Amino acid sequence: MATTRECTICKHIGERTTEQEELETGFLYNTVTHPEKVRIRLCRAHSVELFKVGQKKFLLKHHTILHDLVNSDEMEFIKLLDKVVRKNLDAIY
Ligand SMILES: [Zn+2]
Repeated sequence: MATTRECTICKHIGERTTEQEELETGFLYNTVTHPEKVRIRLCRAHSVELFKVGQKKFLLKHHTILHDLVNSDEMEFIKLLDKVVRKNLDAIY
């Protein structure tokens, strides 16, 4: 599947990850209900961004992913994103 070569964020916001680019594995932590890690793939730019701003701000910044999401093969990521956004609506609007 071609999707395995794409950055999770880029994929959901409709940007193509350049194919030459080395993807990094990132982990998001679902601390609300259970201590599970959600594994995502990140391009260099998004990996740096996650590292710099932290998980919560990172997810809030990309909350627009939820707006026009039709389908995703990374539901664990979407569920976590949805939860963080719901809990922090005042930080976005
Ligand atoms: Zn990316």
